Amino acid sequence: MACIDAEPTVTGAINRLTVKVAYQSRIITLLYRTMPKNGDKLSALGFGCMRLPMLDGEIDEKRAIAQIRQAIDNGVNYVDTAWPYHDGESEPLLGKALKDGYREKVKIATKLPTWLVENREDMDKFLDAQLEKLGTDHIDYYLIHALSGPSWKSVEDLGIKEFLDQAQKDGRIVNPGFSFHGLAEDFQPIVDAYSWVFCQIQYNYLDQEFQAGTKGLKYAASKDIGVIIMEPLRGGNLALPEAPPAIAELWAQAEVKRPPVEWALRWVWNHPEVTVVLSGMNSEEQISQNMAVASDASANYLSPAELELIERVSITYRKLMQVGCTGCGYCLPCPAGVQIPICFDFFNKLHMFGNLDEAKHLYKVFGSGDVLQREPGFASQCVECGMCLEKCPQQINIPEVLKRVVAELED
Ligand code: SF4
Ligand code: SF4
Repeated sequence: MACIDAEPTVTGAINRLTVKVAYQSRIITLLYRTMPKNGDKLSALGFGCMRLPMLDGEIDEKRAIAQIRQAIDNGVNYVDTAWPYHDGESEPLLGKALKDGYREKVKIATKLPTWLVENREDMDKFLDAQLEKLGTDHIDYYLIHALSGPSWKSVEDLGIKEFLDQAQKDGRIVNPGFSFHGLAEDFQPIVDAYSWVFCQIQYNYLDQEFQAGTKGLKYAASKDIGVIIMEPLRGGNLALPEAPPAIAELWAQAEVKRPPVEWALRWVWNHPEVTVVLSGMNSEEQISQNMAVASDASANYLSPAELELIERVSITYRKLMQVGCTGCGYCLPCPAGVQIPICFDFFNKLHMFGNLDEAKHLYKVFGSGDVLQREPGFASQCVECGMCLEKCPQQINIPEVLKRVVAELED
């Protein structure tokens, strides 16, 4: 286990962190990466406020504030929240955590809830409310939340570009960006549609071809757009201490032994195109562990043999998948509204990780259409018309597999 023995010092405008890692007894320095368009030096590890510690069904305020400040005291300078996190309580909590001089030490990122925006005025309404909740007069990194092809079209029609221009002009927003949960083909057109400073994508060694994927990461970087990574641990599944036996056997072959969480984080940081990683840490131990890894996980750190081992782990995980869906979306639209790739993704997650609660929860959230600003798209909506069958390049018997999804993920 790593323990933080912090002696923060200041070098120029950048906080430098000295961390003593107990099991290795060495002094290491928290790494920073540069946001390409504005030169901001951001900590490679950011603090995400989506999964704060809970107590009796509510945010454990005292502990959450202490954790956020612990991270900032030790060099983290990018904190991320959003309107819907913790049913709207994450932003006010972060506002409280950033009192007493902490606001000046960090860049705040928060997000416009696109699915609640009905007109141009709503955009200002949400932003002004967020400034109030966070107790600040500007948002350093403001994201249009959870964009997909349809949701981008919707907010574009409502005047999002003019809103972003105006909010930057009057100083409420410093850097415009977006987070993405759409199909791969929707990513590049959104990148090209506005002068974004940054974007946020889901990325880990299992999602190299899912949503934006490696292609999207590299495309954004080629446009000098900074990339914030969410879900580097796939909702914590890649950090489970007890991996499936076939996976554990592979990790045991590594020359340098590392816990699964460390392999997953190092794989993401190995990409020079990545700016900041949000790991979803919410315990003091996770913060210490993640920071210790962040302190020496530079780009291109992993050896070719280690990268090859991670690829074998990724392939083995994929074999545990029940359906070979690549998420290409060719089967869409379904006349009954079934979001076929989403149904299959969470069905696979269930069989790969065995985490029924997590798979059911995510299936419900994404299947409901709320996040992607679509109509509900559950597997049980399938009327077996067969229209999707000839469109699937993987030749999946879609209606038959959907029946299994219903049986295992829908109550
Ligand atoms: S078979 Fe089911 S999933 Fe496929 S297009 Fe018809 S209703 Fe949609
Ligand atoms: S066409 Fe086939 S592989 Fe592509 S998303 Fe649909 S089910 Fe998956």
